[in-house]
Amino acid sequence: MKKKSLVVVESPTKAKTIGKILGDNFTIVSSMGHIIDLPLKKLGVDIENGFEAEYVTIPGRQKVLAALKKEAKGKEAIYIATDPDREGEAIGWQLKQRVFKKGDNVLRVTFYEITPAAVKEAFTHARDFDINMIEAQVGRRILDRVVGYFLSPLLWKKIARGLSAGRVQSVALRLIIEREREIQKFISKEYWEVEAELLKGESKFSAKLDKKNNVKVEINNNIEAENICNDLKDEEFKVSEVKVSQKKRYPSPPFITSTMQQEAFNKLRFSANKTMSVAQGLYEGIDIGQDNPVGLITYMRTDSPRVAPEAISEVRDYIAMNFGKEHLPEKPNYYKVKKSAQEAHEAIRPTFISRHPESLKDFLTPDQIKLYTLIYNRFVASQMKPAIYKVTSLSIEAGEYQFSASGSTLSFAGFTAAYNDNTEDDEQDKDKPVKNAVPLLSKGDILELLKLLPSQHFTKPLGRYSDSSLIKALEEDGIGRPSTYAPIIYTLIMRDYVRRVKGYFNPTELGFKVCDLLVEYFPKILDIGFTALMEEELDEVEEGRLDKLKVLQAFYEPFKASLDFAQANVKKEIITTDQFCDKCGKPLIVKWGRRGKFLSCSDFPTCKNSKSITSGVKCPQEGCGGELIERRSKRGFFYGCSNFPKCRFVSRTLPQDKE
Ligand SMILES: [Zn+2]
Ligand SMILES: [Zn+2]
Repeated sequence: MKKKSLVVVESPTKAKTIGKILGDNFTIVSSMGHIIDLPLKKLGVDIENGFEAEYVTIPGRQKVLAALKKEAKGKEAIYIATDPDREGEAIGWQLKQRVFKKGDNVLRVTFYEITPAAVKEAFTHARDFDINMIEAQVGRRILDRVVGYFLSPLLWKKIARGLSAGRVQSVALRLIIEREREIQKFISKEYWEVEAELLKGESKFSAKLDKKNNVKVEINNNIEAENICNDLKDEEFKVSEVKVSQKKRYPSPPFITSTMQQEAFNKLRFSANKTMSVAQGLYEGIDIGQDNPVGLITYMRTDSPRVAPEAISEVRDYIAMNFGKEHLPEKPNYYKVKKSAQEAHEAIRPTFISRHPESLKDFLTPDQIKLYTLIYNRFVASQMKPAIYKVTSLSIEAGEYQFSASGSTLSFAGFTAAYNDNTEDDEQDKDKPVKNAVPLLSKGDILELLKLLPSQHFTKPLGRYSDSSLIKALEEDGIGRPSTYAPIIYTLIMRDYVRRVKGYFNPTELGFKVCDLLVEYFPKILDIGFTALMEEELDEVEEGRLDKLKVLQAFYEPFKASLDFAQANVKKEIITTDQFCDKCGKPLIVKWGRRGKFLSCSDFPTCKNSKSITSGVKCPQEGCGGELIERRSKRGFFYGCSNFPKCRFVSRTLPQDKE
C-alpha cells in the first residue's frame, strides 16, 4: 500500500476544504499561522553579522509544532500548501528548516483558488521553495523589527510607556495627520451660484449661470447674487448652441485587493479589515449544501487583474446567455497589469460563474453574501461592453449673461446591467454623466424663465481619509501592498493614534504627538518616497535582482544616525494645565499612562496624587453616578467608568453619539 502524504495549510477551514478534494492518501494539518518568529522581548537581529535573524518558537505554539513533527513521521512527502504569497512561502520554509527532519521530502504547492481542479493541478507541480520570495519576507520582517524595536523606547521616553511605532504605519499616520492640519488651516470662502429654471413646451429643466460677457462670473455674496437676478429677470432666454454627443463608459477591471477594499467601504461600509476577513472565509471554503466545502473566490491578496483563460471563457458564455450577445465584446477585455504585480497572481473573482449569489443565499452569512455579490458582479461587468450615453449640452444667452445646461440619457446599458459603480461618496468621478432631463432643442429657441434660484455655498477642504481613500493614497504613493493595507489601518486604530468616526479617520492627540516626534527625528523613515523605495527594493529582492543585505544596510546607516541623535536629544515633554493639586496645591500636569491620559501632580514622586480626565458624560449604568473616562488598551480605545472596578461599564462610543 502506498504511504500517506502530509499536507500543511494555515487554517482549519482550508484544511477541511482541501481534505475533501485530496482524499484518503493525504493527512491535512493546520499550522494556525506562523509557528516561528523573531523573539518577543529582544531585538533578535544581529546587525553586526549580516542582519542574521534569530528565530524562536512563538510562545504557546509548541503544541502545534509537536503535532506537526508527529504527523510528519513516516510520510511519503510533506506538502506545504499555505497561501500563495510571501507569508505563506515563509511559514513553509520555517517548518522545513526547523521542524521537519533533514531527510524529509518537503515540497511547496501553490494554488490561487481552492477548487478540485486547481488543487489537483497544483499537486502535479509541487516545487522547491522560492528562496528569493523568502528573502524578501525576512527582509521586511527585519526592517519592521529594527524600526519598531528602536523607535518605541523613544516614544516611551517622550510620551508614555507602552506606545509603539511601525515603519509603514507611521507613514500612513503622517498622511492622516497632514490632512488633518490642512483641514484645520483651511479658510472657507463664501460663493454663490445662480440657476435658472426654464420651460419649453412641456419640458422643464435647469441651467447654470457660467459667464457674463463671456467671462466666468464669480459671485461672492448675496448682494451680488441679487443684483444679477435683478438684471436677469426681464431678459429673454434664448438657446445659442446645441451639442449632442455620445459618451462611452468602460467597465472597471475585476477586483484586486486594494480596489476590493475601496469598493467594499464605499458600497457596504466595510472596514478594510472586515473585508479581508469576510473574503478569507469565501476563499477558504464554505459548506454550500453539498457534502464538501467549496472555495468560492480566488485568493484575496493580489495586485494583478489578470484572469485565467478558462474563467474568461466561462464568464463570456454566462454574459451571452444572461445579458444577450449584444453585451459581449468581440474579444475579451484585458486589463493592464502593474509592473510590481506577481505574474501568476489573478484578480479576485468567483471560482465558478455558475454559483450565482442568488443561489447561495441560504448558505452564506449576510456579510458574505454582500461581498460575494460585489465580487461576482464586478467580475461579470469587467468582461462586458461599455455603457453608452447620449449627452445633450445647451448654451443659453440671456442679455449679457450665458447659461449652460447638460443632461444625459442611457442609450445602451452595457456593463451597467451587471454592476452599478456609482457611489454617493466623496470622490465623485467628474466623467460620470449627470442626470438632468435636458430636452433636445434647436438653436434660436426661446425659453420661458420660471424661476431664478440663487444659492449660497462655501469652499470646503479635502475630506478626512476613510478606509477607501487612505488605501487609494497608499497605493498611489507606492507604500502599500495587498497584504499590508488592512493591517496598517487596524494597527493605527488599535494604538489609538486615529479613531474611525462615521467611517473617517480622526487623528487623536496621541497620534499627533507620535507623528510629530517621528517626523522631527526620523524624517527619512517618515518620508513617503523613501518608504516607497524600500517597498520597491523588497520587490526586487523577491525577483532575485537585489541582495537583501544591500537593502538592509542602505536602510540602516541613515537610520542609525537619526537614532543616535534622537536618543541623545529626546526629552520628556511637560504639558501644563490651569488646575492645581488638591493635596499639596502644586500645579497638575497631563501625563499619558498605559491606559490613557490622566492628570498628575507636578511634584511626583513626592506627591503621588493623580486624577482622571473625564469626558463630562455620566455613566449610563443605573445608580452608578460615575463619569465616563477615555481609556486605551491593547485592543484599542474605549470609554470606561470612573467607578471602575466597582462599575465595569465600557463602550466604544459615548452614549449620546452612537455611530
Ligand atoms: Zn500634589
Ligand atoms: Zn459606572
